[in-house]
Amino acid sequence: MQNSFFPSKQNKGQGFAKKPGRTANGESYINCSRKSGRMRGSMATLGIPSNTIAVLQKYNFNFQKKFGQNFLIDTHVLEKIIGAANITKQDCVVEIGPGIGTMTQYLAESAGNVVAVEIDKALIPILQDTLSEYDNVEVINEDILKVDLQKLVDEKNGGRPIKVVANLPYYITTPIVMGLFESHVPLQSITIMVQKEVAERMQAGPGSKDYGALSLAVQFYSKAEIVANVPPNCFIPRPNVGSAVIRLTRHSEPTVQVNDEKLMFSIIRASFNQRRKMLTNGLANAAGLSFSKESIREALLAMGVSENVRGEALTLEQFAQLSNLLGGMK
Ligand code: SAM
Repeated sequence: MQNSFFPSKQNKGQGFAKKPGRTANGESYINCSRKSGRMRGSMATLGIPSNTIAVLQKYNFNFQKKFGQNFLIDTHVLEKIIGAANITKQDCVVEIGPGIGTMTQYLAESAGNVVAVEIDKALIPILQDTLSEYDNVEVINEDILKVDLQKLVDEKNGGRPIKVVANLPYYITTPIVMGLFESHVPLQSITIMVQKEVAERMQAGPGSKDYGALSLAVQFYSKAEIVANVPPNCFIPRPNVGSAVIRLTRHSEPTVQVNDEKLMFSIIRASFNQRRKMLTNGLANAAGLSFSKESIREALLAMGVSENVRGEALTLEQFAQLSNLLGGMK
């Protein structure tokens, strides 16, 4: 079965443009190359399709769709991710889902140490093989959603902030990202490959159709920047959707003052659950919140915002202000 994922002979050696470029609207994109752009002296051998395929065949590896397994086979994309994450020998990097160790090899060469958390036990013997040349990598066979991140940061980096780098399994992008932020573990940045549409939602602002609870949550904790768009042919097997690399740099100080984060996020979620409704109606009817239409109107008035406003028009600062005002009225 695994053979059906391998590039057909017809596609093999197709000419792909070698260099990253820019679209008409200025976004950076990557044209996948079949040639290595890896620096001389590197021990990283994966990322080159023929090497990846050789490893998969050697271990008779079966891709698990349920684990969102789409492995990177492009050295330019790998270098772009490592560059965007700004990895130095001072860094402890946590990689989520190393797969066969393609990006792990690159990370090991740039970082001080790497902790890679992989759920699929079939990949563990493969990782032992592909990472055998590196003495600064530790692989943990675990579900990232069950890992005690604070303990990991304490044990592996003496409690100092880590960097997270990953080509994420798309089926759990939001729980992983929110789990990292909400756990409040010391964290410098998260540089991740995600579904393009999700990256756009993370970066969106008011007035955009992509703006929603995820945009506000991500931007509350970090500065979000899309670094590159990545087409399906940079992966094996090819995903059905476009991908993008996004860097989330954790704010060192909160950019908005909010008295009760939990209340603010409940208000945000309720506002976007019924995004076509006026905020006064959406919030007054929301389960789990107990604000009257009158108190919501009063808060909006105090903010200088129309009582007919929809939640999708409010900025993060305005949601914080609304939450502080409504919280104060309780
Ligand atoms: N990093 C590799 C690469 O770029 O080629 C693989 C990326 S693949 C998109 C996602 C990886 O995450 C797979 O190796 C998959 O088994 C792993 N994974 C899926 N769910 C996971 C979870 N809950 N915890 C840890 N790893 C997970």
